[in-house]
Amino acid sequence: MLRTHTCGELNKAHVGERVDLCGWVATVRDHGGVMFIDLRDRYGVTQAIFDPTDSQEAWQVAQNLRAEYVIQASGVVEARPPAMENRKLATGAIEVRCDRITVYNKSRTPPFPLDDGEAARVSEDLRLAYRYLDLRRASLQKNLTLRNKMSLGVRECLTEKGFTEVETPILTKSTPEGARDYIVPNRLAAGTFFALPQAPQQYKQLLMMGGTDRYFQIARCFRDEDLRADRQPEFTQIDLEMSFVTPEDIYEVIDAVLASVMRASGHGDIDLPLPRMTYDEAMNRYGSDKPDTRFGMEIEDLTAIFADTSFKVFGQVIEKGGVVKAVNVKGLAGVPIRAIEDWTELAKDEGLGGLAFIRVQEDGTWKSPIVKFFSDEEQASLKKVLNIEVGDLVLFAADKPATVHAALGRLRLLAGAMAKAIPDGKFSFTWVTEFPLFENDAEGRLQVMHHPFTSAHPEDWDLLESDPLRVRAQAYDIVLNGVELGSGSIRIHNPETQARLFKALGIPDEEAQNRFGHLLKALSYGAPPHGGIALGLDRLAMLMAGAQSIRDVIAFPKTQKASDLMMEAPSTIDEKQLRDVHLEIRRPEAE
Ligand code: ASP
Repeated sequence: MLRTHTCGELNKAHVGERVDLCGWVATVRDHGGVMFIDLRDRYGVTQAIFDPTDSQEAWQVAQNLRAEYVIQASGVVEARPPAMENRKLATGAIEVRCDRITVYNKSRTPPFPLDDGEAARVSEDLRLAYRYLDLRRASLQKNLTLRNKMSLGVRECLTEKGFTEVETPILTKSTPEGARDYIVPNRLAAGTFFALPQAPQQYKQLLMMGGTDRYFQIARCFRDEDLRADRQPEFTQIDLEMSFVTPEDIYEVIDAVLASVMRASGHGDIDLPLPRMTYDEAMNRYGSDKPDTRFGMEIEDLTAIFADTSFKVFGQVIEKGGVVKAVNVKGLAGVPIRAIEDWTELAKDEGLGGLAFIRVQEDGTWKSPIVKFFSDEEQASLKKVLNIEVGDLVLFAADKPATVHAALGRLRLLAGAMAKAIPDGKFSFTWVTEFPLFENDAEGRLQVMHHPFTSAHPEDWDLLESDPLRVRAQAYDIVLNGVELGSGSIRIHNPETQARLFKALGIPDEEAQNRFGHLLKALSYGAPPHGGIALGLDRLAMLMAGAQSIRDVIAFPKTQKASDLMMEAPSTIDEKQLRDVHLEIRRPEAE
């Protein structure tokens, strides 16, 4: 064996033992002729000492060590003098007095320092180009281990609940998850293509039709999107599907999965069942379908208070069916006017005419451009509903509900952060249920909010053709700290209803057959009622690790431009490969 212990293992109990350690040289210090080497591996760091009086030969070698050389160091564990103990290090009470050394490999000088504090100051692109060096950092190793524990927690929990893990194909047909597909040309039939799965959606439904009853997979998904922060072109989902279920069954399983993930990642037990609210409630109270419930500062509806107001701005909005709402930001009365101006711009981006506010001053008086228009009664009601106190900043919005919610939802988060109202280290889960089935796209066309296999709420099928935007779906999201962890739905399980939905979406019969013929056919051979959900494992791992970016919990992530800087992918391929797959590259015209 090359090593008797890891570099994170030795303590006072090992004093006097002869050990062999292997690892990377983290630092080299020459203290008056005695060499101190910090030796690092995935498990930790141990101090190795090379003294010429122990072994002239080993000391000679140690003198030529540089950062990231890979060595084996052998010697005897000694207690450090109490004053020299390093309490920050798990192995800080000991050191190893070495008389033998083997250099397994030298290293060129790394392009950046590999300690966590220093690396944060280096450009991420450089670190990604040398990801194998970056990965030697303790925090990244910790994240990989944590992710593994989480996956194990998921597998254990679901296996215990009778789920079968099934792999579904990576080379498949385009699936309508709303993004662009990655496509793979087919050598065997010119002009045909596979698509990489955006999610195993149709396969998992087909597994239910195949009688699998309870399926899960830690599944890789691919979406060719313009990347926003914290998106990756390939990402991992905890994907599951169940037969003969209602949403309740799904909530129960996912509650247990999340409890198990929390435990596996060292965050202890959580109270179950996880809280739930409907989509309408989330919009009304938090102005968002992914509410951050770590803090209050909820949006209050003031429309009734101002029903007969003489303040024209509010009155006119209410007359047109609009709403007046506000959030009370505790302790932010003194916020600089610059911030309010910035927030006003943001509110305007969301379509609001402007942002009204009240600052509650030390003497209890309200400083505000609009208060003079409010009656005494209106003021008294406001005070009560919003619990207005000294030091408060109240932000008002009046417009169509969707506009007011979008604006106040964003402001609540910004102002909440500024007021330090969002506690660190808190995990606040919530289900958001009963999403609408449809929304309008930018051109005003009807589109599904989840995917076209989602079933309507049983009470709302009648509205499908007459008032589609009012149809609720049996669709739900699970949210943690304002981040959407996953979405799912109960699916349509008979071919007539599925065809009816395609029709409502304006998908012509022929196209529906073309794209989803296989599914419609499978539905016609006796499909069980079924439903499921998928959780983003990367985001969940990021939140569990307290990491800043999902790239910190993925071993080999891609950049914002969807490239792998280390492998230099994507790359060109040669003419022969192109010919094999019947492709010709259309090059831009020569200048
Ligand atoms: N396949 C869906 C998605 O990736 C999740 C689901 O409906 O289960 O969003």
